[in-house]
Amino acid sequence: MNFVILDLEWNGAYSKKAKKFVNEIIEFGAVKIDEQFNIIDTFSMLVTPQIGKKLNSRVSELTHITTQELFDSHNTFTHVLSKFKKFLSDSVLMTWGTSDILTLMENCKYYLSEEKLTFMTTYCNLQTYCEHRLNHTDKSRQMGLSACAEQLSISTEGLELHRACDDAKLSFKCLKKLYDKNALREFIEIADDEFYRKITFKNTVLFDLKNPLIDKKEFYICCDKCSRKARRKSKWICKNRSFRAQFRCAKCKRDFEGRITFRLKYEGVTVDRRVVEKAKPDNDAKPKNLLSKLIK
Ligand SMILES: [Zn+2]
Repeated sequence: MNFVILDLEWNGAYSKKAKKFVNEIIEFGAVKIDEQFNIIDTFSMLVTPQIGKKLNSRVSELTHITTQELFDSHNTFTHVLSKFKKFLSDSVLMTWGTSDILTLMENCKYYLSEEKLTFMTTYCNLQTYCEHRLNHTDKSRQMGLSACAEQLSISTEGLELHRACDDAKLSFKCLKKLYDKNALREFIEIADDEFYRKITFKNTVLFDLKNPLIDKKEFYICCDKCSRKARRKSKWICKNRSFRAQFRCAKCKRDFEGRITFRLKYEGVTVDRRVVEKAKPDNDAKPKNLLSKLIK
């Protein structure tokens, strides 16, 4: 079984035909790995845009790709995709996070009217795999590729980051360091109907108390020092889509704010609880009117 790690670069462009912004793919980059974890082939192709006539400055700054280069490449999306299909063959397709695969789906839908990636049989999200291996438990903050590489002391020297093929190589280095055959197997998914329902599911934050999906029994906070249930001292309020109240831990004699966020995900409702320390009195804060003091 081979693996193909794919990375894409894209440019947001307004399509008059679709009457919306489309993330138009401008570069495909990929590496193919054998079972012994050797890179056996690489793939790198630019795509000539058909929607956006000019790259956004942010994209060209990040990627160093120029609009001229893209037009000089004379590759339509359909052409590059057919080359990539041959490259992928029956390998497991891997991406860092789901945005690349969702963008690939968006482009296939736009250009080929295909809702699914018919050429893909199995898929693996490298980001969730690496997060799992690194015990990254904070599900509300996803781990970026560079952050993962840094944590694993992987050097990015000689790599041109934010270019598709080099980002794919960096993902490969992270995967190689965290590789465990049995652990990885758990993260390889078959691209069936359920897979597409799951990947296209839009996570939402639930913040209407009347929503029957919000379980009232979940409204508690434990002290983050001693793990005991803390005593609530104020009413719950909803702010920035999370529920907040003031708490006191009788044992630690601490006051803090408790915050609860309910998220509806494909798997069901998740509850995220956080303890936020009260801001200390302003004694050691920087003097607000430092300037006026200096003038004196
Ligand atoms: Zn406590």
